[in-house]
Amino acid sequence: MAKRDYYEVLGITKTASQDELKKSYRKLAMQFHPDRNPGNKEAEDKFKEAAEAYEVLSDPDKRAKYDRFGHQAFQAGGGSGFGPQGFSDINDIFSAFGDIFGGGNSPFDDFFGGGGRQRGGRSRSTGEPGSDLKLRLSLTLEEVATGVEKKLKLKKFIRCEPCSGNGAEKGSDHSTCTTCNGAGEVRQVQKSVFGQFVNITACSTCSGTGKTIKNPCKSCKGEGRIQGETTVKVNIPAGVSNGNYLTLRNQGNSGRRGGADGDLIILIEEERHSIFTREGNDILCDVEISIPEAILGTEIEISTLTGKAKLKIDSGTQSGKLLRFRQKGIPEYGSNRVGDQIIRVNVFIPKTLDSKEKDLIKQMEHLDGFLPEQARPGKPGLFSRMKNVFS
Ligand SMILES: [Zn+2]
Ligand SMILES: [Zn+2]
Repeated sequence: MAKRDYYEVLGITKTASQDELKKSYRKLAMQFHPDRNPGNKEAEDKFKEAAEAYEVLSDPDKRAKYDRFGHQAFQAGGGSGFGPQGFSDINDIFSAFGDIFGGGNSPFDDFFGGGGRQRGGRSRSTGEPGSDLKLRLSLTLEEVATGVEKKLKLKKFIRCEPCSGNGAEKGSDHSTCTTCNGAGEVRQVQKSVFGQFVNITACSTCSGTGKTIKNPCKSCKGEGRIQGETTVKVNIPAGVSNGNYLTLRNQGNSGRRGGADGDLIILIEEERHSIFTREGNDILCDVEISIPEAILGTEIEISTLTGKAKLKIDSGTQSGKLLRFRQKGIPEYGSNRVGDQIIRVNVFIPKTLDSKEKDLIKQMEHLDGFLPEQARPGKPGLFSRMKNVFS
């Protein structure tokens, strides 16, 4: 497949400023971010394509070369070290464009988690950090549409109150760990073909605290944490999708002996809806009307994500017609756009009729108004028109 023009990929003109370039790239990167499009190969390709275009056009030197020679400027013998294969790993993209996303993390760090996730403010000097907790959260489409506050009950390690998490019985002293001499870490020198590596690991004797406990706390046996239950309040914004995840800092397992808390990672799952199907930010549904309603027109009551609404059916509505309720769909996350509700109107054709009903239908059979267009008197029929084509 031919490579698309970089300007076209980013939807900008050749004279676009660095600011416009950045803005446009950021928008595309958000739209096609793999976390927002789980399992969508096309989105991933678009994401990489945009990243590649941005990589070239954001560098004045490369941009000048590209303007003169096009894609050929970067294809000579792989010497440029850059090609579509350069970004086989999504994480590479985040490390390459740290500047645009700020701090080297993904723009979705807060909400969607993401490639280069790092823990902010976690210090190494205390005990062993707690592990992250992951859980799945099922949401109805209604909840997705409006956003929702959820209270989640969790079983996890929580800080031991009596010893404030340090693991020592009240009044008992800590003494310096003899394994690491109070450093909390152990250095090991490893030799490899690339030279020597110094491997630093947390001291296992003191769990990285540098101190050992003379008199361990009775309620936690010196662990500084106990198994417990807590309730976490989470605000889910409107417009999330299946596969998105939300990271709540320091809401995971408490660390050992005062170690930092892990994160709580919530994976969003969308429940199947009995009426609606979601397609992007639009929701689709079917309604059935009777033959007389289709012919004469009517007003029916239908369900929306936010309650009932009246829908006008024009006279002469054909089966399969799509009607649209503007902005009755799902709000787009991070923007003020709202999707639509699309209603497919189906005309119900009965299969069983009693003899009286059949008689009524038979009377309609030969009425001019009930004949298909081309079968009406005075109009050339479908077959005679076809004959004209062949003669
Ligand atoms: Zn304790
Ligand atoms: Zn130690």
